[in-house]
Amino acid sequence: MTAGDRSAPGSSGRVAARALLVNASELLRRPGSEREIDLHIGTEALGLTDTRFRPDDEVQIRLHLESLNDGIVVAGTIDVPWHGSCRRCLKPLEKAARSEVDELYQTVVTNPDAFEIVGDQLDLTSMVRELCLLDAPEAPLCRPDCQGLCPVCGIDLNDATCTCEAPAQPSVWDVLDQLKVSDPQPPMADPADRSDTN
Ligand SMILES: [Zn+2]
Ligand SMILES: [Zn+2]
Repeated sequence: MTAGDRSAPGSSGRVAARALLVNASELLRRPGSEREIDLHIGTEALGLTDTRFRPDDEVQIRLHLESLNDGIVVAGTIDVPWHGSCRRCLKPLEKAARSEVDELYQTVVTNPDAFEIVGDQLDLTSMVRELCLLDAPEAPLCRPDCQGLCPVCGIDLNDATCTCEAPAQPSVWDVLDQLKVSDPQPPMADPADRSDTN
Protein backbone atom coordinates (compact mmCIF):
# COMPACT_ATOMS: atom_id res chain seq x y z
CA MET A 1 0.00 0.00 0.00
CA THR A 2 1.26 3.48 -0.79
CA ALA A 3 0.60 6.54 1.30
CA GLY A 4 -1.76 7.81 -1.41
CA ASP A 5 -4.16 4.93 -0.73
CA ARG A 6 -5.19 6.51 2.51
CA SER A 7 -7.89 9.13 2.06
CA ALA A 8 -6.34 11.46 4.63
CA PRO A 9 -2.71 10.51 5.24
CA GLY A 10 -1.63 10.98 8.79
CA SER A 11 -5.12 11.60 10.10
CA SER A 12 -5.42 8.28 11.94
CA GLY A 13 -2.69 9.30 14.37
CA ARG A 14 -4.49 12.49 15.27
CA VAL A 15 -7.81 10.66 15.63
CA ALA A 16 -6.14 8.14 17.94
CA ALA A 17 -4.58 10.84 20.07
CA ARG A 18 -7.87 12.70 20.41
CA ALA A 19 -10.06 9.66 20.94
CA LEU A 20 -7.94 8.36 23.81
CA LEU A 21 -7.74 11.76 25.45
CA VAL A 22 -10.57 12.19 27.92
CA ASN A 23 -11.51 15.35 29.75
CA ALA A 24 -10.87 14.26 33.33
CA SER A 25 -12.12 17.38 35.11
CA GLU A 26 -15.55 16.94 33.54
CA LEU A 27 -15.78 13.38 34.87
CA LEU A 28 -14.33 14.23 38.29
CA ARG A 29 -16.70 17.16 38.82
CA ARG A 30 -19.54 14.69 39.25
CA PRO A 31 -18.56 11.39 40.85
CA GLY A 32 -20.51 8.57 39.27
CA SER A 33 -20.15 10.05 35.78
CA GLU A 34 -19.60 7.45 33.11
CA ARG A 35 -18.13 7.38 29.67
CA GLU A 36 -17.88 4.64 27.07
CA ILE A 37 -15.03 4.31 24.63
CA ASP A 38 -15.50 1.92 21.69
CA LEU A 39 -12.87 2.42 19.06
CA HIS A 40 -10.78 0.82 16.34
CA ILE A 41 -7.37 2.41 16.03
CA GLY A 42 -4.61 1.42 13.59
CA THR A 43 -1.55 -0.18 15.16
CA GLU A 44 0.69 2.42 13.55
CA ALA A 45 -1.28 5.29 15.07
CA LEU A 46 -0.76 3.72 18.48
CA GLY A 47 2.98 3.51 17.90
CA LEU A 48 2.99 -0.31 17.62
CA THR A 49 5.69 -0.68 15.00
CA ASP A 50 7.64 -3.85 15.80
CA THR A 51 7.36 -7.01 13.66
CA ARG A 52 4.44 -8.42 15.66
CA PHE A 53 2.15 -5.71 14.33
CA ARG A 54 1.01 -4.89 10.79
CA PRO A 55 0.23 -1.28 9.94
CA ASP A 56 -3.11 -2.24 8.35
CA ASP A 57 -4.35 -3.96 11.50
CA GLU A 58 -6.62 -2.27 13.97
CA VAL A 59 -6.69 -2.49 17.72
CA GLN A 60 -10.16 -2.79 19.19
CA ILE A 61 -10.55 -0.76 22.36
CA ARG A 62 -13.64 -1.09 24.55
CA LEU A 63 -13.40 0.82 27.79
CA HIS A 64 -15.79 1.96 30.45
CA LEU A 65 -14.80 5.00 32.50
CA GLU A 66 -16.42 5.85 35.80
CA SER A 67 -15.46 8.61 38.16
CA LEU A 68 -15.21 8.12 41.91
CA ASN A 69 -14.65 10.75 44.59
CA ASP A 70 -10.91 10.39 44.25
CA GLY A 71 -10.26 9.11 40.76
CA ILE A 72 -11.44 7.51 37.56
CA VAL A 73 -11.73 3.76 37.08
CA VAL A 74 -10.97 2.55 33.55
CA ALA A 75 -12.08 -1.01 32.82
CA GLY A 76 -12.64 -3.06 29.69
CA THR A 77 -10.78 -4.95 27.01
CA ILE A 78 -8.23 -4.30 24.28
CA ASP A 79 -7.90 -6.73 21.38
CA VAL A 80 -4.73 -6.47 19.35
CA PRO A 81 -3.99 -8.58 16.26
CA TRP A 82 -0.44 -9.94 16.15
CA HIS A 83 1.69 -11.92 13.72
CA GLY A 84 4.57 -14.26 14.31
CA SER A 85 5.69 -17.84 13.94
CA CYS A 86 5.57 -20.77 16.34
CA ARG A 87 8.86 -21.01 18.19
CA ARG A 88 8.88 -24.82 17.89
CA CYS A 89 7.43 -25.67 14.45
CA LEU A 90 7.94 -22.24 12.77
CA LYS A 91 4.35 -22.22 11.45
CA PRO A 92 3.20 -18.66 10.64
CA LEU A 93 0.69 -17.44 13.20
CA GLU A 94 -1.93 -14.72 13.04
CA LYS A 95 -3.93 -14.23 16.19
CA ALA A 96 -5.30 -11.57 18.48
CA ALA A 97 -4.36 -10.98 22.09
CA ARG A 98 -6.91 -9.72 24.56
CA SER A 99 -5.82 -7.47 27.41
CA GLU A 100 -8.08 -6.97 30.36
CA VAL A 101 -8.02 -3.41 31.61
CA ASP A 102 -8.73 -2.43 35.19
CA GLU A 103 -6.89 0.75 36.10
CA LEU A 104 -7.34 3.66 38.44
CA TYR A 105 -6.32 7.20 37.53
CA GLN A 106 -6.03 9.85 40.23
CA THR A 107 -5.28 13.57 40.29
CA VAL A 108 -3.67 13.13 43.70
CA VAL A 109 -2.22 9.64 43.76
CA THR A 110 -3.16 7.93 47.04
CA ASN A 111 -3.39 4.39 45.68
CA PRO A 112 0.08 2.92 44.95
CA ASP A 113 -1.23 1.20 41.80
CA ALA A 114 -2.90 4.30 40.38
CA PHE A 115 -1.77 6.33 37.37
CA GLU A 116 -1.49 10.07 37.80
CA ILE A 117 -3.82 12.39 35.91
CA VAL A 118 -1.60 15.13 34.54
CA GLY A 119 -3.43 18.34 33.70
CA ASP A 120 -7.14 17.99 33.04
CA GLN A 121 -6.70 15.25 30.47
CA LEU A 122 -6.78 11.54 30.97
CA ASP A 123 -4.48 10.24 28.22
CA LEU A 124 -5.12 6.53 27.70
CA THR A 125 -2.78 6.16 24.71
CA SER A 126 0.31 4.95 26.56
CA MET A 127 -1.69 2.54 28.74
CA VAL A 128 -3.27 0.98 25.61
CA ARG A 129 0.10 0.78 23.87
CA GLU A 130 1.85 -0.79 26.88
CA LEU A 131 -0.81 -3.49 27.24
CA CYS A 132 -0.59 -4.36 23.53
CA LEU A 133 3.21 -4.67 23.77
CA LEU A 134 2.91 -6.79 26.91
CA ASP A 135 0.19 -9.18 25.72
CA ALA A 136 1.20 -9.80 22.10
CA PRO A 137 3.62 -12.75 22.54
CA GLU A 138 7.21 -12.41 21.39
CA ALA A 139 7.94 -16.17 21.21
CA PRO A 140 4.51 -17.74 20.58
CA LEU A 141 3.48 -21.36 20.31
CA CYS A 142 0.91 -22.54 17.74
CA ARG A 143 -0.57 -24.60 20.59
CA PRO A 144 0.70 -25.43 24.07
CA ASP A 145 1.63 -29.01 23.15
CA CYS A 146 3.23 -28.25 19.77
CA GLN A 147 5.57 -31.16 18.95
CA GLY A 148 7.93 -29.01 16.90
CA LEU A 149 10.17 -30.17 14.06
CA CYS A 150 12.24 -33.36 13.99
CA PRO A 151 15.81 -32.26 14.71
CA VAL A 152 17.11 -34.82 12.19
CA CYS A 153 14.85 -34.61 9.09
CA GLY A 154 12.96 -31.40 9.86
CA ILE A 155 9.49 -32.93 9.42
CA ASP A 156 6.65 -31.23 11.31
CA LEU A 157 5.92 -33.73 14.09
CA ASN A 158 2.41 -32.27 14.54
CA ASP A 159 1.38 -33.52 11.08
CA ALA A 160 3.55 -36.57 10.56
CA THR A 161 5.87 -39.02 12.17
CA CYS A 162 9.28 -40.07 10.99
CA THR A 163 11.56 -42.95 11.80
CA CYS A 164 14.54 -40.81 12.70
CA GLU A 165 16.23 -41.84 15.88
CA ALA A 166 16.73 -39.08 18.34
CA PRO A 167 20.38 -38.06 18.27
CA ALA A 168 21.72 -40.33 21.00
CA GLN A 169 24.18 -39.26 23.60
CA PRO A 170 27.52 -40.88 22.66
CA SER A 171 28.14 -43.88 24.90
CA VAL A 172 31.27 -44.13 26.95
CA TRP A 173 32.56 -46.86 24.54
CA ASP A 174 32.19 -44.51 21.54
CA VAL A 175 34.19 -41.91 23.38
CA LEU A 176 36.91 -44.45 24.17
CA ASP A 177 37.00 -45.62 20.50
CA GLN A 178 37.51 -42.02 19.41
CA LEU A 179 40.45 -41.70 21.74
CA LYS A 180 42.03 -44.90 20.40
CA VAL A 181 41.94 -43.88 16.72
CA SER A 182 43.20 -40.34 17.25
CA ASP A 183 46.91 -39.69 17.20
CA PRO A 184 48.61 -39.92 20.52
CA GLN A 185 49.38 -36.53 21.99
CA PRO A 186 53.08 -35.65 21.92
CA PRO A 187 54.44 -35.63 25.42
CA MET A 188 54.30 -32.21 27.05
CA ALA A 189 57.62 -30.44 27.08
CA ASP A 190 58.80 -29.78 30.58
CA PRO A 191 58.72 -25.99 31.04
CA ALA A 192 61.75 -26.31 33.29
CA ASP A 193 63.91 -27.39 30.28
CA ARG A 194 63.21 -24.15 28.40
CA SER A 195 63.74 -21.84 31.33
CA ASP A 196 67.23 -23.35 31.71
CA THR A 197 68.28 -22.17 28.20
CA ASN A 198 67.91 -18.48 29.17
ZN1 LIG B 1 4.06 -25.11 16.55
ZN1 LIG C 1 12.81 -37.12 11.41
